[in-house]
Order: sequence, then structure tokens, then C-alpha cells
Amino acid sequence: TDSVTIIRGAIDFQDKVAESAITSLDKVFMITIDTILDRKTMTEIYASGYSRIPVYEGSHKKIKGVLLTKSLILYNPDEALPLKNFDINPIIVVEASTSLVDILNSFQEGKCHMALVVKESNPIGIITLEDILEEIIQEEIYDE
Ligand code: ADP
Repeated sequence: TDSVTIIRGAIDFQDKVAESAITSLDKVFMITIDTILDRKTMTEIYASGYSRIPVYEGSHKKIKGVLLTKSLILYNPDEALPLKNFDINPIIVVEASTSLVDILNSFQEGKCHMALVVKESNPIGIITLEDILEEIIQEEIYDE
């Protein structure tokens, strides 16, 4: 990337809304609140590679919050505890038409760096700080 691209990205950024930068719901790795955190599910979580995992109840459209995988670092999977015993972080919910500037401001408050994007009350995807940064620099950021 270069500074001209970033400046152009920053100018265009003001007009962009959540919907244009989401990861669509069908691509989101999420887990049910009924999960037992045993060796099998912990391996699946680890293999996903994501640091924030939306937690749903019943249907994929009923997202209750986000599991921060770093909170499980010292957890022993042989304990096989239910996910219900763990703290689930709240997720920010935003309308598809919310401006990316507004979402960036919410992320800056630091409560959660993932938002659930809804359209006509239906969840359509998620958006994270990385998705917003990509809109500004106009390039993909590849994970480590
Ligand atoms: P991480 O810290 O887990 O790598 P980032 O916030 O850096 O996640 O986001 C990287 C990309 O992965 C973004 O496009 C984001 O929308 C997507 N993403 C984040 N969490 C998930 C998830 N649980 N399932 C699917 N995609 C996700």
C-alpha cells in the first residue's frame, strides 16, 4: 500500500457503511452456548484460528455474545466444562446502514472489537476492526 491509496481510502471511508465490509454470517465460525469444552471442541476452536467466536443459542441467528479465545489459554480441556460456565462478552449490534466511522468510534471505546451487523432485524454478518482497517488501506490484511 502507499500513502496516496490510504488518503483516497480515508476520504471514501466516510461514505461507507457496515454492509460493505462484513464477513457474511454463513462464513462465520460460531459455537452454540450448549457446547461442552472438551478436547474435541477445544481443538475445533483452536483450529479455526479466530480470537473472537460468536456464541449462539438455538439458531445461528440468535447470537448471545462473543467468546474471547484468549480467556481459555489456561483452561484444561480434560475438565470438559460447559461453555455456560464461562464469561461471554457482549457483542455490539449495528444496523447494516451504520457508517464505518460510527463503528470505528464504538470499537475505540474498547468494549468489543466485533460487531454483529443486522438488516431488518436479521443478522447478516460480522465486522471487526480489521475489516474497517482494510477499507481504509484498500488492501487485504493477511493473518499471521
Ligand atoms: P482474528 O483476531 O480472529 O484474526 P480479526 O478481527 O483480525 O480476527 O478479523 C480478521 C478477519 O476474520 C475479518 O475479516 C473478520 O471479519 C473475520 N473474522 C473474525 N472472527 C471471525 C469468526 N469467528 N468467523 C469468521 N470470520 C471471522
